[in-house]
Order: sequence, then structure tokens, then C-alpha cells
Amino acid sequence: MVEYVKRRSFLAGLAAAGVGSQLGGSGQAVAVGSGGNGKLGDLKITKVEILQLTGKNKRRALYLKLHTNAGAVGLYGPIDNEAAMFVDRFFKRGLIGQDPLATETYWDKMFRASRHSRGSHYIMALSAVDNTLWDLRGRYFGLPVYRLLGGSRKKVRAYASCLGFSQEPSALQAKARELKRQGYRHQKWFVRDRGPSHGPEGVEADAKVVRLLREAVGDDVDLMFDAFWEWDLQYALAWTRRVEQYRPRWIEEPFQTANLDAFIELSRETSIPVATGEHFYGRWDVHKFLKAGAIMVVQADPEWCGGVSELVKMCTLASVHGANVIPHGHSIHAALHVVASQPVEICPLVEYLIRKMDTYYHFEKHQPRPVNGMLELPERPGFGIELDESKIADVRAVSWQQS
Ligand SMILES: [Mg+2]
Repeated sequence: MVEYVKRRSFLAGLAAAGVGSQLGGSGQAVAVGSGGNGKLGDLKITKVEILQLTGKNKRRALYLKLHTNAGAVGLYGPIDNEAAMFVDRFFKRGLIGQDPLATETYWDKMFRASRHSRGSHYIMALSAVDNTLWDLRGRYFGLPVYRLLGGSRKKVRAYASCLGFSQEPSALQAKARELKRQGYRHQKWFVRDRGPSHGPEGVEADAKVVRLLREAVGDDVDLMFDAFWEWDLQYALAWTRRVEQYRPRWIEEPFQTANLDAFIELSRETSIPVATGEHFYGRWDVHKFLKAGAIMVVQADPEWCGGVSELVKMCTLASVHGANVIPHGHSIHAALHVVASQPVEICPLVEYLIRKMDTYYHFEKHQPRPVNGMLELPERPGFGIELDESKIADVRAVSWQQS
């Protein structure tokens, strides 16, 4: 149960959330080395807050905010509930006094700090901290994260991720044509409603989705398909044989990520690239799959896999194997900046979940919206997140710790 440790006045709460000048509402960074005695090594984290924003429409979101003795702050969100809870219970106290620029040191320390650090909510929390530290670094030095990472791409191509749209044939084809008209050259559709229990008829129905889409968009749009772990190897082999003629760009997560052998076998048997990775935790998972020749597309999620720091390492690994990294898109700030920092040959695309992104960044002034299928990189410091005061009814610092 969430325990509210502080109830702020509305205005004080907004200030804590970074609305207004303190958090770069003007786009300004805090002067490097300001505060303290002016030496980089003296920069320290002084306060950690998990802020729950409640909207005038009752919508809620959690953001992580780190404060320093120099006045610079880091802000990242929305973060998942599970990540927030673990940050609060396992990371918060140890962050106080840390050098926020020593991200590699901190990451390694925290990865070694728990015998259960290799996955799940622990590394999701580590990801939230890492991403917030990258935002802090950007605000401190006055640069966007993708520039700090060495990138120069001003725009990144987004693919339309079509979760939740109707698959009734005429609606399916109409939506696919509409997305093409909007400038999306890549569309991902979901074949998650059938599986092995549906037998050959299921395979035929899932192949029909591919045929209808190819007919709708022609040859100049890439089509990708996500099976959401619903298949087994035989079903996947039957489907891939049936649809290779329509040239899908990839088949995503036909099986659970735990089933490495099935990924290896499918990749051997089909010309369609196989993708997975939204549940990869750390570089070691990526290494295992790439070394085995199991996938060609790594879909690690920087909010789950270990943060920006870890996703960059995964890109290096992928480059060695000639694979792509196209991050999972349950959110987009961190993914966008990492992709923009990498060569297009390694990171050609970001995922844009059309329906989810419609409201996901409700509390932010600059909501990522593709134009002609492209997402522009912000020039604001950090990830460029600025909260929109007009949307916020209440801000509270929340905690899951026992009092
Ligand atoms: Mg997926």
C-alpha cells in the first residue's frame, strides 16, 4: 500500500515536480559546478523523490526526481509502479551522497548489491535511476542526452505500432492505408489472438492478416508482426512458410523469451528475421541470443533492461553481430535518445505505440508526436521533459516504506 509521506501544498508540489524555472522550464541548465565548492567531484545527490502527479482528469503518473547539492536535478517518467516501489525500498537511501555523474560506478555497484539483481523489478528500478541520472547529467551540462552519448541524428524514424486496432479486414486495411498516408513506412501488427490450439485454421487466419496488410499498403511499407508469446515452434514454422512471400520485416516474440532453443530453430528455418528482447535484462541476455544466432532484432527496453547505460552496451554488442537494436516502445524518451545516438545501420527505428502514446505523456509540455513518420530530437537539456502545470491538480511524494 502506498503511504503518503508528505502532502505538499499545490504550489510547493508543482515546484518539487519541476514545473517552472527550477527544472529548466526555460530550457536553461544549471551552471556547471554551481553550488558546493564548484568541483565536479563534489556533486552529490541530496534528495530522492518519487512524485505522484494527479491530473485534473484524475489521471495519475509517477516521476522520479533526484536533487543535488548544486541545484541541478534529474527528472524521469512516467515510471512503472513496480520500479517506483523498488527505487523507494532498495535504492533511495543509498543514492543520498552518490556522485550523480558516476553512472557506470553506480550501475555496477547496484548490480552487485543484490543476488536477485539480474532481472525483473530490481533492474527496472535500476533502469529508472539510471535514466534519471542521465537526465540530471544533461541538465547539469546543458545538453540533450543523445548529444552526451555522442549522437548527431536530429530526427529518428518511428514505426507505427498498431496494438489495439481492429483486425476486421476492411478496418485493418483502412487503418494501414491511413498510417501510410501519415508517413509511416513501417507498421507493426499483432497476431496474438490465435495459436497452436487453433491448428491449421489458426495459421491460415494469421497468414491472412499479413496478406490483407500487404495488399493494403503495397510494396513500399515494411510490415512487422508480434505474436506476444502465443505460439509454439510448429505453429511459427507453419506461419513463416506461409507468409515469407509477403516479406515481413520481422516476426516478434513467437515464444517466451525463456525458450532460446525455439528462437534458434526458427531463425535457422526461416528467411524472416526473428525479434525479441523487451524482456531482456542486462547485456548478458543479449549476448546469449546473438551468439546463438537466435535473433536479428534486439528489442530491449531502456526502462526495463538497465537504462540508457545498458542499452548503449547492447547496441555495441548488436553491432558486432550485425543485428539491429530497435527498442521496445512502452515509453519513448530514453529509447529515442539512445537510438539517435547510434548509427542508423544499428538503430534504424523507434517503436511508437499509437494508441498508448496518445495519452501516456499527458503531464508533459512536449509530447513526442511523429510528423511524417519521424520523431524530432529535443534540443532541451536532458531528455527535455517539462511538466505542464495546467494539467496537474496535485503532486505528492509517495513512499512504500514502513514507517
Ligand atoms: Mg512486443
